[in-house]
Amino acid sequence: MNFLSSLNRTSTIQQLKTVDFDLAIIGGGITGAGIALDAASRGLKVALIEKDDFASGTSSKSTKLIHGGLRYLKQFEIKLVREVGRERATVHKLAPHLVVSEKMLLPLVKGGTYGNMATSVGLWVYDVLAGVEGEDKRKMLDAKEAAEKEPLIRKDILTGGGFYAEYRTDDARLTIENIKTAAQYGAISLNYVKAQELTYDEQGIVNGIQCHDELGQEHFQLKAKYVISAAGPWVDKMRKKDGSLSGKHLFLSKGVHIVVPHDRLPVKHSVYFDVPDGRMIFAIPRNRVTYIGTTDTPYDGDLNTIPVYQEDADYLLDAVNQMFPEVKLTKEDIESSWAGLRPLIHEEGKSASEMSRKDEIFESETGLLSIAGGKLTGYRKMAERIIDLVADKFAKATGQNLKPVQTKKIPLAGGPFKNPKEVKTYTQQLITHLKEFQLEDYYAQYLVANYGKQSDEIVRLMSTMTDESPVVRLAKAEVIFTIDNELVIEPMDFFNRRSGRLYFDLPSIEPVLMPVLELFKATFQWDDERVIKEKEYIEQECYRHAHFEYEHQKATQN
Ligand code: FAD
Repeated sequence: MNFLSSLNRTSTIQQLKTVDFDLAIIGGGITGAGIALDAASRGLKVALIEKDDFASGTSSKSTKLIHGGLRYLKQFEIKLVREVGRERATVHKLAPHLVVSEKMLLPLVKGGTYGNMATSVGLWVYDVLAGVEGEDKRKMLDAKEAAEKEPLIRKDILTGGGFYAEYRTDDARLTIENIKTAAQYGAISLNYVKAQELTYDEQGIVNGIQCHDELGQEHFQLKAKYVISAAGPWVDKMRKKDGSLSGKHLFLSKGVHIVVPHDRLPVKHSVYFDVPDGRMIFAIPRNRVTYIGTTDTPYDGDLNTIPVYQEDADYLLDAVNQMFPEVKLTKEDIESSWAGLRPLIHEEGKSASEMSRKDEIFESETGLLSIAGGKLTGYRKMAERIIDLVADKFAKATGQNLKPVQTKKIPLAGGPFKNPKEVKTYTQQLITHLKEFQLEDYYAQYLVANYGKQSDEIVRLMSTMTDESPVVRLAKAEVIFTIDNELVIEPMDFFNRRSGRLYFDLPSIEPVLMPVLELFKATFQWDDERVIKEKEYIEQECYRHAHFEYEHQKATQN
């Protein structure tokens, strides 16, 4: 049975109801997905539930870098920089189509955060800690060389630059590929199932979850020896339900990104640059767009809908216009945006930017394990640490030793690709193939970056269709593939978290919207009213991602 097909949802729920699992995971962001893969590949019977769609929390709203976190070096977080620095290369090897090398330019400017000497030493230490070799080692540039790399940068204050290597990914795709790879080892994951309460045995030890099927409105019990809450910004809510919210707690910081067409900010590389208030932000080119972020402000609003205010967008526009004065970006240039919450571990007396990005595991007296903090980049090591802990408990309870961590050698679904060269060859073949469907080269890159070798199946599905428009055929083939293999339930699961269109190609949604909705209607037996509602919702969401209100106006309206 394919438990990753939305058409098999009833059978999947039946499994969740009837199997005695070793481990139940709450939360289908990158942390939960990574834990599911680690645990299942060591031999545990794993269930994962997600209250919304996979990666609908922070894990679709990051800067999407697999990076060592240069700025953490400034805060002397040597251990963190070493671990995530080394992880970059590992995650790249596991999915070279999805985690791609990205050169960064750090412009050195008069009065900026980093001086020439400090940057040179800092980037060198960064390379050494992360074990970076060969071509990828940092290069220091003088002002002329830095200006040649990025001609749009303001020259009057430019004194040089650091040129170094990081990786770029799609966080939501990384999450879903971990879920799918975990399924290859028997893990059962389901979206739109909420952990409502924890259940306990007579000794008060947690032994499962009271679940709610958010689509069928049914309650059911899931039984498991161990429960991990990987609920990101919601971790403290689960700890509260468990009666164990004491001591350290979460601090939520909002981070906003805006997206403009690449020709409005045509940077050749990613640029990590100074903002007048002393912070630093990224401008990252990605096919047809450049995205810019992020802000870093305390947040105590609704965790499910995080607003982007005009003030957030203005801050980022101003920052770009300061560093790239010729481009003169305005709010009319903004095509899309997103806002996410960093679930940081609170530290007294520190600002949001200063708080550590280290992850932490909390173990309550009831046995509930919670994990929060950390980075997308470190997801595999976070999973390893918490499953090592579970493995100890499992060995004590059953006398059975689990296998040691396996994930360093498990290529993610979408592969395997041996290396970036193989990805390039595959992309070239796809470019040729897509010409038969009158689709431009861009779509081959889009498909490979999102689906890797699974693009073959999407192309096969396209060849079975007769729609006139090539872009409609493509979108419909993707929708069928993602409903059958990636638990897509709602159109927005597809437009946002499986395909990235909402952020990176928003104009591509409108021309395919009605045929896609008709496909959902036929697949899930929707009535016309549902189609109209979904259409309105998607149109509103597209508008909301490109238009913002002022925060003070919002406050006075409430
Ligand atoms: P989430 O992704 O939020 O997942 C938790 C999930 O739990 C959610 O999907 C939620 O719906 C679910 N859930 C909650 N309660 C329940 C319940 N009761 N029942 C069922 N499910 C539930 N890291 C990097 O390495 N590189 C970057 O470039 C980077 N940039 C960032 C930029 C920003 C603006 C932000 C905010 C973060 C950034 N990070 C970055 C950090 C990274 O994104 C996070 O560390 C990571 O995504 C957290 O993942 P998570 O799975 O712990 O949380």
